[in-house]
Amino acid sequence: MSQAPCILADMGEPTILHADLDAFFASVEQLLDPSLKGKPVLVGGGIVLAASYEARAYGVRSPMPTRDAKRLCPDAIVVHGHFERYLDLSAHVMEVLEDASPVIEQISIDEAFVDVRGTTHLLGSPSAIARQIRSRVAGEVGLPISVGVASTKFLAKIASARAKPNGLVVVARGTELDFLHPLPVEAMWGVGRVTAARLHRFGIFTIGDLAALPRGALSSSLGPWASGSLHALAWNRDPRMVRGGRRAGSVGSQQALGRGLTDPEELSVVVLGLADRIGRRARKKDRSGSTLTMRVRFPGPRVVSRSHTLPSPTSSTAALAELGGVLLRRAIDGEEEPVTLVGMSLSNLTTDEFLQLELDVDPGDVLRAGSSMDLKRRAIDASVDGIRERFGRDLLKLGSAPDRGVTPEEFRRLAEHSD
Ligand SMILES: [Mg+2]
Repeated sequence: MSQAPCILADMGEPTILHADLDAFFASVEQLLDPSLKGKPVLVGGGIVLAASYEARAYGVRSPMPTRDAKRLCPDAIVVHGHFERYLDLSAHVMEVLEDASPVIEQISIDEAFVDVRGTTHLLGSPSAIARQIRSRVAGEVGLPISVGVASTKFLAKIASARAKPNGLVVVARGTELDFLHPLPVEAMWGVGRVTAARLHRFGIFTIGDLAALPRGALSSSLGPWASGSLHALAWNRDPRMVRGGRRAGSVGSQQALGRGLTDPEELSVVVLGLADRIGRRARKKDRSGSTLTMRVRFPGPRVVSRSHTLPSPTSSTAALAELGGVLLRRAIDGEEEPVTLVGMSLSNLTTDEFLQLELDVDPGDVLRAGSSMDLKRRAIDASVDGIRERFGRDLLKLGSAPDRGVTPEEFRRLAEHSD
């Protein structure tokens, strides 16, 4: 009896979306400082982590030494980056994507796959959903995002790249190979410069050239696994599913602290800021969590984690700040080195369908859901959320940490995927 919808789904538009913010870090800088709009902008210090499209027009790429980039584009404006804001805006974009479907797989700070198969009956066709996403991200976050819609993850990723900047490409069913085969092999996800050069040596320049070879023809030069999988991809054979719920399981945020903090007062302000951000995001999704994890980084690669599971879930900013403070003290107990990064995440999430009032609570147990203190805190959070909803997030800013010229170490890895 459930066959009809399956047939309809097969005949309709493909349902895998790949959404990718355009020149993410550079676009955020242009958003934060409108005088940078339309200008070549480089984000980074000695190395370019991101370049605006205006800078890319001069051949600037990331990563590249800033010195070389300035030689290519002498008018480029170099900014150090607002890495906290990138995380915040990324989370906001992911929330927009989550509204399109719960089946979302975030693969880097600025891109995610979304399978909308289960939500087309509510939100419209996949291409209509893609248009909604683009207009919401532009309107609510203020950033350009490109979306590819296709029948496989592989093709959706290629489609979003072809859609850039600020576009939408839908590869209709039945047209996949017409779309794919004329493209250069470099367009394939996983074909880097080295593999491309090897393929060129065999006279293979387009994906169609690759598809036309007998399967296994390249196994002696690329190895059997790579040659087999490239050949399959050239025919758009990609069985990988969008692994949903990869971020739905937790709500987290982190703050890098430059050269580091040692003062417990200053650190508790940072914890309050993180608790505020996490609590706000969780409440917006009507979620509460019972496990809070605190991650503290010291100079070098050393990280200490502490977590605690509450008897009942919470999303209260005050409760998260309180528990976060306890975990932080445990994490830095006996430490003499400064803390260079604090990360907090709330997991074991449940949906706040109803709040069970507890009749028999220990009045001292302020973290318990349903206690009178918890109810008061929920009321405060609700009014703060309401004010922010109306007047903007920055109006009531809790625990804003001092700006200390954050070192973008954490972001080098993330930036590799950023385009
Ligand atoms: Mg991107």
